Amino acid sequence: MLDTAPHDHPQDDPSNSQGIGRTAGVFRLTVCFIALVIVTFVAVEGWRAWRDYQDAFAQAYDSVMNLSQATAQNAEDAVRQVDVMTGALAERVEGDGLAKLDVPRIHTLMVEQAKLMPQLHGLFIYDAQGRWVVTDKSATPAGVNNADRDYFIYHRTHLDRHVRIGKVITSRSTGDLIIPVSRRLNNPDGSFAGVLLGTIKVSYFVDYYGDFKIDGKGALVLTLRTGEILARRPFTPGITDQSIAQGEIFQRYLPTSGSGVAEVQAVVDGTYRIYGYRALTSYPLIVEAGISRDSVVGPWRHGVTKTAVVLLVLIAGLVGFGFILLHQLRRRMRVENELRRAHEVMQEMALTDSLTGLGNRRKLDMLLPQEINRARRQGYAIALIMLDVDYFKRFNDRYGHSVGDDCLRRVAGAIAQTLKRPADLAIRYGGEEFTVLLPDTTSTGASLMASEILAAISALGIEHSDHPLGVVTASAGIAASLPKSDEITPAGMIKAADAFLYMAKNNGRNRWYSPMGNSALEALMESRPPA
Ligand code: GH3
Ligand code: MG
Ligand code: MG
Repeated sequence: MLDTAPHDHPQDDPSNSQGIGRTAGVFRLTVCFIALVIVTFVAVEGWRAWRDYQDAFAQAYDSVMNLSQATAQNAEDAVRQVDVMTGALAERVEGDGLAKLDVPRIHTLMVEQAKLMPQLHGLFIYDAQGRWVVTDKSATPAGVNNADRDYFIYHRTHLDRHVRIGKVITSRSTGDLIIPVSRRLNNPDGSFAGVLLGTIKVSYFVDYYGDFKIDGKGALVLTLRTGEILARRPFTPGITDQSIAQGEIFQRYLPTSGSGVAEVQAVVDGTYRIYGYRALTSYPLIVEAGISRDSVVGPWRHGVTKTAVVLLVLIAGLVGFGFILLHQLRRRMRVENELRRAHEVMQEMALTDSLTGLGNRRKLDMLLPQEINRARRQGYAIALIMLDVDYFKRFNDRYGHSVGDDCLRRVAGAIAQTLKRPADLAIRYGGEEFTVLLPDTTSTGASLMASEILAAISALGIEHSDHPLGVVTASAGIAASLPKSDEITPAGMIKAADAFLYMAKNNGRNRWYSPMGNSALEALMESRPPA
């Protein structure tokens, strides 16, 4: 019954436990800080990546708008020049009358004009039957007739005097791909006199588009309002036979707005592009300038990947650093824990009597005031028994000191064995004196305990030939508080118990005395025959 658990609260050294708390705090703080740094980095870089993405698209929108503006202007200029020039020429031809035309002079004029316009492929005048009257070329192919051409049929059947831009055709004079820009020629009476045709080289636009710096998957397209392709970069054979009328820009965007930006998939090659599109104001032409989504997202993705790698390295570094730091902190916490445990052990040792293993006087000094206070607070009694081995000087003298020590150990064992409650506390007070602290015990209860302890000691049967009884015995004095008594003090209790012990010694030893009576009286009462 050496278990003294309820009292077994060696007080934590405040500085030490604070140290451990502080280390644990630093540990938590470090984890939080590293997590915060990582989250911040990721958030900032994520935000930046998002902003870069937006910027890249905004820039792409700007550049496709500019591109479409430039190509539209170029197309408009190219057509207008032919328009103006053919307009003047038509007036002249009509004035002279096609039948009376001064062919050599008009030819020279045509050659002069053609030289001024790099886009121009040729100038042609056809009569009402589609026969070639005059061209800017030096020779006219024999027997050719253009009455079958779209533009010819159109002008023969339509009265309007505007230029008409037609689908791309292959030149009968040179074999080049050309865009026909034609107008009707009238006789003075308004009847159909023939057609004046200016042709623009498709290659003029293709070359012009080739000069722009756009990515490999970019595209520049010039089409009729009806969707037929006139020129395109990249240019592929047969491309001018295609129409993009079914494309999203024609179907969805152009009906609502003459110019704008659209992210769509190209009809021609299936590439996703950001297109700037524009309908020309003066002619039924559309231009589209597109750069591929990849060319916008690619560099952005490259940048993000680079940043992500740097970020990952940084995070890895931080985590590594954190791990090392946490490892150190953990080690420190472990050392602190070991120190604390060692400290507790030492404290426990400082409160233990080395000879008997019971608590020592320091422990009583520490716990008695606490127990008295607790008893007062909770309103229960508390008792203290003071024990002293009888004639122990004689025992020592006869049997020697080491046998004396052994005897004390056995006496201590007998006392500890007798205690029943975990809260009971046995103390070696000093020399051959012991104290037993009994919380929540009245004087009566303590007397019972004292009887049992004294009986247990004498029951050890340790031979003591200089003792009248022949065995080792002890005497006891009991001090017991009344519940809620305020006067009780540790010193007062010890003094009172001591006084009763003194009485026990003086009245024959191997007995106890308490404020309520003594063991001799009890023995007398027990042996008295019932009345
Ligand atoms: P009484 O019955 O009146 O108590 O007589 P006593 O001889 O027991 O009392 P006294 O106080 O005169 O003697 C106590 C003796 O106990 C003195 C000392 O030799 C012995 N003693 C004290 N501490 C120790 C100890 O640790 N070991 C041993 N072996 N003897 C001790
Ligand atoms: Mg003594
Ligand atoms: Mg003694």
